[in-house]
Amino acid sequence: MSNSHTDSHVKEIDGNVSVNRNEDKEWTPQSWRSKPIRQGVVYEDQEHLQQVLNKLQHLPPMVTPSEIYKLRSQLREVALNKAFLLQGGDCAELFEYCSQDPIESKLKVLLQMSLVLVWGARIPVVRIARMAGQYAKPRSSSTEKVEGREIPSFRGDNINGYDPSDRKPDPERLLRAYFHSAATLNYVRSIIGSGFADLHRLSDCSLRHVRSDRTRQEYQTIIDRLADSLDFMRVIGADSPFSPISSSLYSVDMFISHEGLLLDYEQCLTRLLSDPETGEKKWYNIGTHFLWIGDRTRQLNEAHVEYFRGIQNPIGIKVGPSMESNELQKLLDIINPNKEIGKITLITRYGADQVEKYLPAHIQAVKASGHIVIWACDPMHGNTKQSSSGVKTRYFNSIIEELSKVIRIHKDNNSQMNGVHFELTGEAVTECIGGSMQLADADLALNYKTFCDPRLNYEQSLDVAFLIAKYYEK
Ligand code: PEP
Ligand code: MN
Repeated sequence: MSNSHTDSHVKEIDGNVSVNRNEDKEWTPQSWRSKPIRQGVVYEDQEHLQQVLNKLQHLPPMVTPSEIYKLRSQLREVALNKAFLLQGGDCAELFEYCSQDPIESKLKVLLQMSLVLVWGARIPVVRIARMAGQYAKPRSSSTEKVEGREIPSFRGDNINGYDPSDRKPDPERLLRAYFHSAATLNYVRSIIGSGFADLHRLSDCSLRHVRSDRTRQEYQTIIDRLADSLDFMRVIGADSPFSPISSSLYSVDMFISHEGLLLDYEQCLTRLLSDPETGEKKWYNIGTHFLWIGDRTRQLNEAHVEYFRGIQNPIGIKVGPSMESNELQKLLDIINPNKEIGKITLITRYGADQVEKYLPAHIQAVKASGHIVIWACDPMHGNTKQSSSGVKTRYFNSIIEELSKVIRIHKDNNSQMNGVHFELTGEAVTECIGGSMQLADADLALNYKTFCDPRLNYEQSLDVAFLIAKYYEK
């Protein structure tokens, strides 16, 4: 395999010349176009699509190679069991979530979860939000029944609209996706840079709205003990905003991610830039720090895997029950031929009652392959059920069951769960059943807001963080 590039390829991108299909092994940002594709989008107005893609190709990067490298080096620590990965956010972001309150509340819950994990498990946490670009959704069926009518499925705000009258793919939405991602990320950067994650200001962020006394008390204990530690550090002169040693008390890194589903979009945001260490030119997806391949689009000889094998970003691969062990090994070799430690995060999602059947063989297959990956558990996607009222839901208990089984199976196989991947929101939605607030099936209707999969709400997210921290408590 070669990630090499020539001037002619650069010209191809600018001039939209199609890829040379004889050079099967040569990777370019558009070489995926010569492969079969799943979940592809057919646009009626090709000219309009082309105009949009030309525009997208010239818009500035949202993230830089240095940031991507920083994340890669942190993920290397995760893969080596020296840090823990927390990834979470909406199943599908909508353009309307690009607004002050939803952004703040999502960051707040991720930061509070990570604090609980750092405090309890005494391990650094790498935070990646499913945010600022999580707009495209893979669907199992191209149509869905809405108010008795079979209409094209909603495929995410960057393809079509949720409103039943707006289901035709519209190229203009790709541009809107870029600008909504950029505005979201801009606000994330601004508030993180302005003390939103400052440990000294934690008490500003109370858990007033949390119903469970126990969760509130447990969190308050952390805050009080932390305040004590900070006070001690201040007295001995070890805590100053200007000292690089204590800078992590004042802010954190927050990276962003989305599923790399819509390759027309991803291609336009793939740029040839200098490696921050060697100066060598390499291809980076500059629309996000971390991209993952969904469970429905990870076929070895198809378009998505072809796209993913050429970029420098760290990459997630969803691994479900249909993954064969030898397929997993081949996938790792294709996407990470140099076996870089932590380049790949395997996000496993089997379901609480299937995990014992599949995970051990996958762990053994990866060990035999010589790859050192991050093992992250997504306890959401294998545990989706229909509620009695017919909406999609997930039981908190199944989520915890899959998580605890994954932790144990890794231990039994001389491996380690290195991280978690959740669908969650900072708001008080009622989409998953259970948790310390004891949400019941009948409560789902109270505030069921998701446009795709059910998310953990604010309290349920904190519950999960406390439970994981307890597993790892030293
Ligand atoms: C998702 O993460 O929203 C998703 C669709 O997951 P998966 O590809 O694992 O089904
Ligand atoms: Mn989902």
